[in-house]
Amino acid sequence: MALDLESLYIDLHRHPELSFQETRTAGVVTAKLAELGIEFEEGIGRTGVAAVVRNGEGPTVWLRADMDALPVPEQTGLAYASTARGIDPAGNDVPVMHACGHDMHVTCLLGALERLVDEKDAWSGTIVAVFQPAEEHGAGAQAMIADGVLERFPRPDIVLGQHVTPLPAGVFGVRAGTQMAASDGLTVTMFGRGGHGSRPHATIDPIVMAAATVMRLQTVVSREVDPRDVAVVTVGSIHAGLKNNIIPAEAKLELSLRYPNDEARERVLGKVERVVRAEAEASGAEEPPTIVTDHTLPPTINDPDSTARLVSAFGRAFGEGAVIDPGMFTGSEDVSWFARESGAPLVFWFWGGVDPTAYADAVAAGTVERDIPTNHSPLFAPVVHPTLERGVEALVVAAREFLA
Ligand code: ZN
Ligand code: ZN
Repeated sequence: MALDLESLYIDLHRHPELSFQETRTAGVVTAKLAELGIEFEEGIGRTGVAAVVRNGEGPTVWLRADMDALPVPEQTGLAYASTARGIDPAGNDVPVMHACGHDMHVTCLLGALERLVDEKDAWSGTIVAVFQPAEEHGAGAQAMIADGVLERFPRPDIVLGQHVTPLPAGVFGVRAGTQMAASDGLTVTMFGRGGHGSRPHATIDPIVMAAATVMRLQTVVSREVDPRDVAVVTVGSIHAGLKNNIIPAEAKLELSLRYPNDEARERVLGKVERVVRAEAEASGAEEPPTIVTDHTLPPTINDPDSTARLVSAFGRAFGEGAVIDPGMFTGSEDVSWFARESGAPLVFWFWGGVDPTAYADAVAAGTVERDIPTNHSPLFAPVVHPTLERGVEALVVAAREFLA
């Protein structure tokens, strides 16, 4: 039987689920694996699924897809746009959308498994397919590892994965070495003293303290990081207060930090901590601020030899011009935990999901940043074709390259 990948993709797109809540998605995955006659285990790292195809002697290739969606209100206007809602970790009712394309990743991995099972005569070795939860929390890969996925399944000789991205459909982006940045997510809580809005002198205002901190943090990258390195300090959320005439007692900031290497990481983290503490002190805070690390992601580093093999295999399959070096992305991924923990090399590549004509028009007009929605945008909408076909083919070509 042949999987109807378009219907599968649209179904997943309509039913996105937040991190560690991917129960319906996992159910769709296991139903398709069962249809394909592939052995699997579910509930690994809470909602993860791993499957194995054994086909004689040869290397073990891990293929990884992430499954989770994001708290984003979909505005694509597509007929199959999501209207789903979910409950986030803080207990808030939020809109949910596959704004990062993980629905495409799951669909393509299932499509690739079907092809590889059909073509079993043409290769030997073992394929492990990992359907990972909670990539967006930077926690799913580690949860699966903590739950023994590396012991319960044949260990990888190589880990492969892919991400759909706003490049023209048909174009692949991959580079040897650091492909994606390392990242930390921090929650900073600054403590003041609450009181009446008419009597600021009797309070310690955490809103002014937080505002000064946000501005001062803008100097971290410009004044502390080597200009040849790429780093990012983003304050993605700031919360304090409930009413205009009440000075609240505390303010909470959430930070996303990105860096290409450990040296930049140390410098940025050190500076952020100094700024936060100094601004609290400058405001006369009576209690020092707290800084909690919510997640830490390592840089995604592609093994140079394996990347060279993949680039030439993709060149043969898709044409030489189809593979570009996109440079390092400041986004981060947790896929590399599977490679780091097992000592296997990793190759993680990007493939385009944008209508090539729309992309070319935006390039000509100089409006790519404005007109081509990126991952996590409420307008992110990969074109279904040929994105699906390319994503399946890429996984098949890559797997076959590293299998016997
Ligand atoms: Zn994402
Ligand atoms: Zn993603």
